[in-house]
Amino acid sequence: MVDSSPRSHIFAALRAGSVSKNTSRSDHALVTRRAINYPLSTVNSPHPPVSLIPPEIIEQITAANDIVEVIGAYFPLKRSGPVYKALCPFHQERTPSFTVNPQRQIFKCFGCGAGGSVIRFVMNYENLDFVAAAKKLAERANIKIEENELSAEDAARSSMAQRLKALHAAATEFFHWHLMKKPSAQIARDYLKSRGVGGEVAKSWKLGYAPDEWDAMRDFAQTNGFSDEELVASGLVKLRDEENPHGEFYDRFRARVMFPIYKEDDVIAFSGRVLEADAKAAKYVNSPETMLFTKGAVLFGLNKSKRALIEAKSAIVCEGQLDLITAFEHGVQNVIAPQGTAFTDKQARILKRFVDEVVLCFDADAAGEKAAERSLASLLAESLLVRVAEMPPGEDPDSMIRGKGAEAFRERITAAKDFFDFQLDRLASRPDFATPRGKMQAARKMAESVSLIRDDIMRGAVVQRVAQRLEISPQEFVKLLKTPTAKPLDQPSNSQTEATPIVLDELLRFLIRLALRSTAAREWLLAEPWDTVLKEEPNAELLMKALAADIRPENETSIHVFLSTLNESEEALVSSVLAEELPPQPTLIVHDCWRDLERRQVRHRVAAAQARLRAPNLPVEEVGKMQKEIVDLQKRLSDISRPLSPPL
Ligand SMILES: [Zn+2]
Repeated sequence: MVDSSPRSHIFAALRAGSVSKNTSRSDHALVTRRAINYPLSTVNSPHPPVSLIPPEIIEQITAANDIVEVIGAYFPLKRSGPVYKALCPFHQERTPSFTVNPQRQIFKCFGCGAGGSVIRFVMNYENLDFVAAAKKLAERANIKIEENELSAEDAARSSMAQRLKALHAAATEFFHWHLMKKPSAQIARDYLKSRGVGGEVAKSWKLGYAPDEWDAMRDFAQTNGFSDEELVASGLVKLRDEENPHGEFYDRFRARVMFPIYKEDDVIAFSGRVLEADAKAAKYVNSPETMLFTKGAVLFGLNKSKRALIEAKSAIVCEGQLDLITAFEHGVQNVIAPQGTAFTDKQARILKRFVDEVVLCFDADAAGEKAAERSLASLLAESLLVRVAEMPPGEDPDSMIRGKGAEAFRERITAAKDFFDFQLDRLASRPDFATPRGKMQAARKMAESVSLIRDDIMRGAVVQRVAQRLEISPQEFVKLLKTPTAKPLDQPSNSQTEATPIVLDELLRFLIRLALRSTAAREWLLAEPWDTVLKEEPNAELLMKALAADIRPENETSIHVFLSTLNESEEALVSSVLAEELPPQPTLIVHDCWRDLERRQVRHRVAAAQARLRAPNLPVEEVGKMQKEIVDLQKRLSDISRPLSPPL
């Protein structure tokens, strides 16, 4: 039997869109309970971008930057039918599921769910915020964004993030001024001098001093027009009672040397080092996570060392900020420092964009070795070569460079051992290594690290080398390895900073597709009382945004302007919707989908009324009211969508 009702189009379309393969033909067919989850890769904040760039300019930027050219300049893309493919840069994979659609001008990864416009790609890949990514693309296409194009209204909309950046910039000057000018900062100047950091270097790195007072920063910020709310949100002050954001607070950083932490050109956090060696306070105090700053997602020094990293294709990893500054100022400039002791996945991913190799340069003590081991998983996951430079006992890069010179330090770097050789040497130096039991223990330990290698070629080579040193056959050693698990992009430990995946049922998803892709369907929806209906609907925010926006489905750039107003999860979802085919006869289908949605709402209301009826001790007048409501709702149900759909 051939079913030619509009409903059958919906099923055909749903199937064509690779949505639901098991839709049953019940009334609830479209309303499957299966939630669609979008795991997302992100290095950006989950907050929607607050654009200070006018929509016309965003239109120009997306029109002038072909997404295939832009992404193709970062890594090669391979044509595959109507799309381009590559291994996804946002998650680890062996077969390409990252696609670029030249017609729609969007990218989409079917592995991790990342997706969006050319601006979103640059945001995620370069770890930039919206405005910075848009500016970068504008520059590429010779489009001028004049600051005075920002209207008064735009300026007034200036987001919290903008305010926090301004506050951090002001705080940087405040701390720096204290360090350079105030008599009370003599102790800090003396300390820095003892570490070989003079005025010029302090100026170049904008080092600072946080005065030994409880409210110096607060007074400064308030005098300069920053609100208490902004001050608390910046993390520059600390609440006396964490539970009460409107309560009292005091300066977080006191009597510390201040190192500003940059992301691109903006200071987004601080690290403060204590001055008295015997102080009970923690050696370092860092900014807490804020709207600007995600722990483990920033590398100290990157703002200065980027060029040198790209040229050397190798990054020297220092433990402390002063190690890094000393190395940099002595001409060893391909340096970075993770904030904290070990690398996170995000930091490794950022680094991979600039280099192929990492030289870990930790202190020669056991803690340094542990830190090296902890960094290994993240670095190997990005297929970075890892070497370990051992400092002479009791020395760190800073003391070594100042004592023996940059050349001696460079020699250590050149002589740095491959991590696996380094680890083998350490194990082989143990007294029981000669015994069969000791050797077996060493083999197990080595297998743990070798198991972390994702790259097949690298793995094979290391297996050969390690097996030879352990005097066992490579086959025997391979038996000890764990198969590499396809690790999701980031571990749960920092997943709370990820964009929240959007859960959307298929009916809403389908309506979004129609609203974005078909002018006729869109006009049909806009003629309905859509905002009243959708206000009742859970998870309909995105569809409401799509209908409220100034979108012309035949005009791709208007869709890209719409994308620029979304947060990362929403943009990824919309991109996957855009990649799907438009069904035939969209006007018939939109009508049916919409009526399905209305029917579903009415049914929910009926069910709610029936549930209330079953409640014990319901007053008689209430029972009458409920019964009448149910009858009305059922009538409404049978009225919905009479004209187009044949009886079911
Ligand atoms: Zn991916």
